[in-house]
Amino acid sequence: MSEPSPQSIRAEALEALLIEKGFLKAEDVDQVILRYGERVGPLNGAQVIARAWVDDQFREDLLNDASAAIAVYQFEGGQVEKLVVVENTATVHNVVVCTLCSCYPWALLGLPPKWYKDPEYRSRVVKEPRKVISEMGFDVAAGKSVKVWDSSAEIRYLVLPQPPENLQSYNENDLTGLVSRDGMIGVAER
Ligand code: FE
Repeated sequence: MSEPSPQSIRAEALEALLIEKGFLKAEDVDQVILRYGERVGPLNGAQVIARAWVDDQFREDLLNDASAAIAVYQFEGGQVEKLVVVENTATVHNVVVCTLCSCYPWALLGLPPKWYKDPEYRSRVVKEPRKVISEMGFDVAAGKSVKVWDSSAEIRYLVLPQPPENLQSYNENDLTGLVSRDGMIGVAER
């Protein structure tokens, strides 16, 4: 097993202290982890993307006012009160970062991955997005421009990846399986 990080040691010490003082119950902490790990997560986002690929009206609504468009789903998790969806096209690839901290649309993607919170990703993706995305395993086509979107406490971004070429041969459920968390952040094709 690897060494726990200073952050996780601090978090555990804080949790132990809060439980000892009676401010918190261990079951409450487990509940939160369960909630974000199992009931909230990238599957919510994938569902939204797949629907946007097959339903033009929904796609249009999503691009106009994403928070309103996803309201019907009643996803748990929050952080999508001002959601903006940005669409990848034949000429533009989008990628999302929070340069200040780790703002992220929890209700659609669950908890942010560790690399999203790392100072390295946050500073480098702004300066050399194409290179950072390539290092993460995806080469953006040379003819496309790369747009970087900086999330904030007010606005959260989600990338609408390009659909697969043979879109018609999939049903909506299969399409959901093609969408990854990284694709919706913009560091993967979809
Ligand atoms: Fe942030």
